[in-house]
Amino acid sequence: MPRPTAWAALLLAASACALRPRAGEGARITAVEVQGQRVEIRYQPEDAAAAAPVAEGVREAVPRLARFARLRRTVTITIHPSRESLEAVAGGYYWLRAWAQYATVDMLSPRVWAWQGMEAEPPGDARVKQLVLHELTHCAMYQAAASEWTWNVKGIPAWFREGMASVVAGEGSRRLPIREVWRALAREEPPGGVWRSPGDPLPGGDPLSDPGPLYAEESELVYGTAHQAFAFLVRRYGDERIRQVLARMGSGAFFAAAFREAIGLEPAAFEADFRRYVLWRGWEAGPEAP
Ligand SMILES: [Zn+2]
Repeated sequence: MPRPTAWAALLLAASACALRPRAGEGARITAVEVQGQRVEIRYQPEDAAAAAPVAEGVREAVPRLARFARLRRTVTITIHPSRESLEAVAGGYYWLRAWAQYATVDMLSPRVWAWQGMEAEPPGDARVKQLVLHELTHCAMYQAAASEWTWNVKGIPAWFREGMASVVAGEGSRRLPIREVWRALAREEPPGGVWRSPGDPLPGGDPLSDPGPLYAEESELVYGTAHQAFAFLVRRYGDERIRQVLARMGSGAFFAAAFREAIGLEPAAFEADFRRYVLWRGWEAGPEAP
């Protein structure tokens, strides 16, 4: 049972939450429908201008999502006017600009990204649209692969999840270059050294197979590794095989089984292949991104 001071703090927090305006209260709604897919954007009146490029981003995103999946369910994008409002739904992911789930995207208003130190200056419309495409790719992936109740227990690894969103959104140029991914992997697992077995991560995490401990402090490394790994998957096996991974998950398989059936090898074997490609500098001879 919490100590009295903790109780007081909880009560204070509860009353602060009650007084603080939430994104859902008094919100305006803009609905966008493209190719039979529907997205509703909820925002506070002060974010009307910020909502315009979000709506435009949805219109442009839906045709590009078709590369791997489509939105089967209406997605609600909530533009949060403040960091506190986003944290109320995203919990401890304090460093996020946006958080996608099965049929929702919660995003911090681009109006305040610069204030929050996330960008040096207010983002242009192109960056906002790119973020919308990235987040909607997550929703489309989850909806193709699972139900509302199973999407977060399918065992989809971070490199596949974030890599697909990053590749579809064309974020390669803002990601860490593959040379930096090589530096990070080489530091942890030098060529000629002992290959770690999956499930035996180094303390402090691994950007490919165990990114959890690195998300907050080294997110650029995690996202850069994810982008490069997914781009490698696309180059080797092509879009259709990746659509098959999603389809097999949609028919009930967990990620590992779906990947094995569609790609023809275990996820851990693919991760080892990618690791070798990076460490042996296969990328010096070829394109870094599709
Ligand atoms: Zn993401």
